[in-house]
Amino acid sequence: MSDSIVIIGGGHAAAGLCAGLAEAGLGARVHLVCAEAELPYQRPPLSKAFLKNPEEALQSHRAEAWYADAGITLHRADPALAIERAAQRVSLQSGAVLEYERLVLATGAVARRLPQLGAGLANVALLRSAADARRLREQLAAAASVTVLGGGFIGLEIAASARALGKAVTLLESAPRLLERSVSAEIAEHVLQTHRGAGIDLRLAVAAEGFEVEGGRLAAISVDGRREPVELLVMGIGAAPDTALAEAAGLECDNGIVVDACLRSSDPAILAVGDCANFPQTPGGRRLRLESVQNAGDQARTAVATLLGREEPYRALPWFWSEQGGLRLQMAGLMPAGGEIHRRPGATPASFSLFHYSGARLACVESVNAPMDHLMSRKLLEAGKSPAPDVVCDPKTALKALL
Ligand SMILES: Cc1cc2nc3c(=O)[nH]c(=O)nc-3n(C[C@H](O)[C@H](O)[C@H](O)COP(=O)(O)OP(=O)(O)OC[C@H]3O[C@@H](n4cnc5c(N)ncnc54)[C@H](O)[C@@H]3O)c2cc1C
Repeated sequence: MSDSIVIIGGGHAAAGLCAGLAEAGLGARVHLVCAEAELPYQRPPLSKAFLKNPEEALQSHRAEAWYADAGITLHRADPALAIERAAQRVSLQSGAVLEYERLVLATGAVARRLPQLGAGLANVALLRSAADARRLREQLAAAASVTVLGGGFIGLEIAASARALGKAVTLLESAPRLLERSVSAEIAEHVLQTHRGAGIDLRLAVAAEGFEVEGGRLAAISVDGRREPVELLVMGIGAAPDTALAEAAGLECDNGIVVDACLRSSDPAILAVGDCANFPQTPGGRRLRLESVQNAGDQARTAVATLLGREEPYRALPWFWSEQGGLRLQMAGLMPAGGEIHRRPGATPASFSLFHYSGARLACVESVNAPMDHLMSRKLLEAGKSPAPDVVCDPKTALKALL
């Protein structure tokens, strides 16, 4: 029987798995199967520096020679098409068949697309991959105005980048506020005012429907019943876990591939990590699926431990960042429902942190343009410390001293 470890997916989680397995001396057993032609690369810059600067290159996690030196076999631009669990093998588009002892699914997520806006429209874009980003960068360069659908992190980052390029930007959000699933109402309001202040026509609680297509292009949309011409439209309406292979192979899926705390799927020979995995936050407790670089990297470490036969349940503190023009948002921990919120001022009026408490327990900290406070808050949360609200809200308190 093969002793191969096959990883499907070439993103952040896959890069972390390769690094961990190489460090453990197992590189020669690893096959990395990537649908994309690129070596695993950093996705966050795609909506930020990469969009704004035509000279900006993709940032690979590691050079090609590193994989060769580690003994890792790369299968690029060769998506896995099917998993045969009984025979423990994976077939690739090229016709290659890889046998595995252990298989790790790191297939990430796919950008959601409005069904009315098919893939063929020349002036409609979405952003998930390097290929999407290259296309959108060119489309942006040629456009004077852009309409962004969706006020989540990626929609806002694209809107801010387009604005920085001098474009006339309209952002349409159907919910009554921004970032509804991810940040507090206070932060959402701050983000809204900042973007409006930068000249983005940001509209909340609007119904964008009635898409008018003409000659392979989207000509106009109806916004709250009014026809609005469109030059370029970007969909930033979220992503769905890529579970296609897992579902076809009969693995348990429910908003992602269902895994245990050691990231084993319903088939113990198969693990799942990163954006595609739905994991238990606490033993037997609430399940979560996170879309962040932190989660992909930390889960890769847990998965390596599992592959090495160590039981190290995933318990990492979630944290996230987003850059939107001059706004740097950083979050650590999970926001409690109905908790108390206390504000710590930062060094400038545009910089502050919100400390969220669940009873007396510090549960989450959201920071705006306050990277040091974010870093120290993360350490406090990781250490399970809950300093009193009046102490953290005093700007004279050095958070470091509370550790
Ligand atoms: C534009 C953008 C900006 C972002 N900004 C931030 C940020 O600022 N901060 C942050 O924390 N997170 C950010 N994220 C989210 C972060 O990038 C993801 O959470 C992270 O990439 C997840 O890593 P992953 O390995 O699980 O999935 P991915 O990085 O999505 O990688 C999955 C890979 O699997 C491949 N794949 C899928 N199916 C197959 C198959 N059948 N065969 C072979 N390969 C397959 C895909 O092509 C893809 O390359 C951003 C995401 C995007 C798209």
